[in-house]
Amino acid sequence: MNLRYDPADNEKFWSEIQQIPGYPGGEDIPLKTILIEAGALFQLPQVLSSVAGKQMGEVLTVMDATPMRRGADDLKPLVLEVLRQAGWTPRTVILEADESGQVHTDMPQIEAVKARIEASLPVVSIGSGVVTDIAKHACYLFERQTGRHVTYIVYQTANSVSAYTSNMAPVFMDGVKRTLPSRYPDALICDLETLRDAPYEMTAAGVGDLLAAFSSFPDWYLAHRLGMDSQYSMLPFELMGRLDEIFLACADEIRNRSLAGMAVLAKLIHLGGLSMSLTHATAPLSGYEHVISHTLDLIHETAGKPLAQHGSQVALAGVLCTSAYQIFLEEFEPEQVNIEQCYPNPEQMKALILGEFSQLDPSGKAGEECWSDYRIKLENWSKERDRLEDVLAHWSSIRRDLRSMYRPPDTVLKILKAVAAPLRFAELEPPVTETAAKFAFFNAPLTRRRLTLGDLLIFFGWERERLWQRIWKWVA
Ligand SMILES: [Zn+2]
Repeated sequence: MNLRYDPADNEKFWSEIQQIPGYPGGEDIPLKTILIEAGALFQLPQVLSSVAGKQMGEVLTVMDATPMRRGADDLKPLVLEVLRQAGWTPRTVILEADESGQVHTDMPQIEAVKARIEASLPVVSIGSGVVTDIAKHACYLFERQTGRHVTYIVYQTANSVSAYTSNMAPVFMDGVKRTLPSRYPDALICDLETLRDAPYEMTAAGVGDLLAAFSSFPDWYLAHRLGMDSQYSMLPFELMGRLDEIFLACADEIRNRSLAGMAVLAKLIHLGGLSMSLTHATAPLSGYEHVISHTLDLIHETAGKPLAQHGSQVALAGVLCTSAYQIFLEEFEPEQVNIEQCYPNPEQMKALILGEFSQLDPSGKAGEECWSDYRIKLENWSKERDRLEDVLAHWSSIRRDLRSMYRPPDTVLKILKAVAAPLRFAELEPPVTETAAKFAFFNAPLTRRRLTLGDLLIFFGWERERLWQRIWKWVA
C-alpha cells in the first residue's frame, strides 16, 4: 500500500513534508536515516558507522531481559553478534523489571542508563516503547548535562507505539505519567522480520494507538478553538492521511503479519510519532482516550499490577470517547449553556481531586501531582471566556469541523476486529473492570492541563452517569 508520505523515502520524504503548512521550518532534525526493510538488521553496523562517524569501537546496547525471536534465532544475541562481526564491541545494559514484572519508564531507570553513557560511545537501544523511551531520555539528559551529542540509534522490535520517531518521552513522575521534552534518534532501524515475529498483541496495540486520532484530532481542535492550545496545526491530518480507509485496506496484511503489512504499520506509527514531534505536542494523537489510558495505568501502577498493552487500552478508551463524541455532537445545545456555571470553584476542584485520587494513592502524592497540572487548565479556562462564547456562537460550523475529524465507535471497532485486536476491556491483560474504566472516564480530565471533551462534559454539567450507561455497552 502506498502512503502519500513515506518516511522510508528519507530525503524525498523530508523535502516533501517541509512543504506542509505547519512544518517547523529552520529546525534541525537529526533523524535522517529510517530503514524499513526485510533484512534491515544486517545493515545496522553500516548505519551505526555512518551516523557515529567511525568504523568500529565500543557501542552501548540497551535492552530489557525479555527474550525475543527472529525466525529461528534469538533476536538480541543475533543483533549483538552482527555488531561484533562488523568490528563493534557491545557493552550491554539490561534494564531490570520492578515488582510488577515489567520495566517502566521512570527516573531511576533513566538515570541508571545515563550513568553508563560516555561522550564518544554510541548508543543503540534494542526494544519497543519503554526501552526506547528510557534510552532516548538518558541520551537527552546526558547531552543536556555535558553539552555533547550522543549518537543514538533505535532498533525497533515491535510496531507497538509511536515512541520511535518521537522527540518526547512519557515518564512516570510520582506514579503519574508526564510527557517530557526529549530528543529524536539519529537513525531508526525497522527490520521487517523482527517486527513480524514480535508478539502479535503488540502489533495489534500499534494499530490501536493510532486509532486515538478519531478522538484526539477533535479534542485538539476543540482545545484550539477554546483558546486552550496554541500549537494547533493541520500538519498531522495531512501527514497521516485518512487512517480509517488506510487501515481497512491493509488490515488483512497486518493480521497475517506479512512483511508488507509490517512495513505499512511501521510507517504509520512513524508518521504518528512525527506528527507529535513536529508540532511539539502530543495532543494530535493523545486526547481524552490517552488521559483515560494513563489513569488506568495509574490505577494498575499504584496497585502494583502490570500495565495493559498501551495501544489496545487506548483504542478501547477511544471507543468510549468516540461514542461520547457521537452523543455530544448530536445532543449538545449551545443555547442551553449557562456560562456563569461553566467555571468551577478551584478550591472545590482541588478537594475533589485530592479526594478521588486518595482512593488510589493514600499518600496524597498522586492527587497533588494531578492538581498541580489541572489548576493550570482551570486558570486558563477562566481567562479564555471570550473564546467559549465564540465557540457557542459558531457551534454549527465547529460541529461540522468536528464531525469531519472524529469517526464513530463502530468504525474503531470494525478496524480493531479486522486486525484481531481486543474488542472489550475484559480482554486486556490484565483485564480492566467497569469500575476502573468508569473511574478513569470520570476522573481522567482531572489529571492533566490538556483540555478534551472530558472537560467540557464537566464544565457544561453534562449528565455523565447517564452518558456512561450509554457508552459502556460498546466495550462491555
Ligand atoms: Zn499512545
